[in-house]
Amino acid sequence: MTLDNIFEEIKKAEKIVLLTHETPDGDAIGSTLAMKFALEQLQKQVDIIIPKYAKVFEFLPGTDQIKKESSIEKYDLAIALDCADLKRLVGGEKYFSPAKSKIVIDHHGSNTMFGDYNFVNPVAPACCEVLIGMFEYFGIDISIDLGTCIITGIITDTGGFQYSGVTAETFEFAAELLQKGVNISEVYKKVFKTRTKANFELSKLASDRMEFLENGKVTFTYINAEDLKNVNAEEGDHEGLVELGREIEGVEVAVFIREKENSNGYKVSLRSNDYVNVSDVAMMLGGGGHVKAAGCFVAGTVQEVKNKILSEIRKVL
Ligand code: 5GP
Ligand code: MN
Repeated sequence: MTLDNIFEEIKKAEKIVLLTHETPDGDAIGSTLAMKFALEQLQKQVDIIIPKYAKVFEFLPGTDQIKKESSIEKYDLAIALDCADLKRLVGGEKYFSPAKSKIVIDHHGSNTMFGDYNFVNPVAPACCEVLIGMFEYFGIDISIDLGTCIITGIITDTGGFQYSGVTAETFEFAAELLQKGVNISEVYKKVFKTRTKANFELSKLASDRMEFLENGKVTFTYINAEDLKNVNAEEGDHEGLVELGREIEGVEVAVFIREKENSNGYKVSLRSNDYVNVSDVAMMLGGGGHVKAAGCFVAGTVQEVKNKILSEIRKVL
């Protein structure tokens, strides 16, 4: 069974590197940190390499040990967390591909299974939830620090226990953590109830530019590089803007695009409410994700990118 193989690989390895996807969210950071705490219980030497992440996650235990790079060229084991494909994995070419053994742990339905061992549960609402079962199997003690990281991933990827992927197990685990003393309301406040000034300024722009298309079933809005510069945006300041459209009555698909520096194109965020599978839409454009939250990169101007996305959305609307 894959879990046994993974445990064997971990036991064999001395130096382990943990990696995750670009523009890491709470599940990406939470799952890598949780894995680091778990592997340290197994006496492993572990590096997390995440060159850039949003300031909101700095409160998490263990972030002081996150590295921007490493001098080790060939790790015994590389583990990719919360990442659907090698292309999006930060440090993929540098640390993942050369490692002696490669493991993928994820919850994206679009995962390309790019490891030697792949443990992917597309039904899990967060990669952090995949880890809960895995840690139980490995006999890992869920400390307050480890639990805080896991609950952060679950809270951010479920929009605060809102989305349909949430299971009874999610709440059972949250209850267990509360009993242990993990401060869930504090995590909630840190990740959802505190926004940067730049994020607020960007949301004003995104709201102003919101267009209603296809009889109000689709919203489209954008942020360009100049806007990001004008508000002194930092990593993560665009988070949540795609939700502005999804929350509006009658909207099925919300599209938010933001210009990606040095790339001549836009990073696309897609969200849906009921019946459109945006992961399929994103895959048609070279990306991926989940049924109701997905993304991709599209080259071109705002108008060109908008047209390309809309022509895909129309097919499934
Ligand atoms: P977001 O809109 O929050 O950036 O991303 C939503 C979901 O889509 C996340 O689960 C993210 O991993 C996935 N996603 C975003 N962009 C891409 C992409 O370019 N490729 C793939 N495979 N998945 C993406
Ligand atoms: Mn995730």
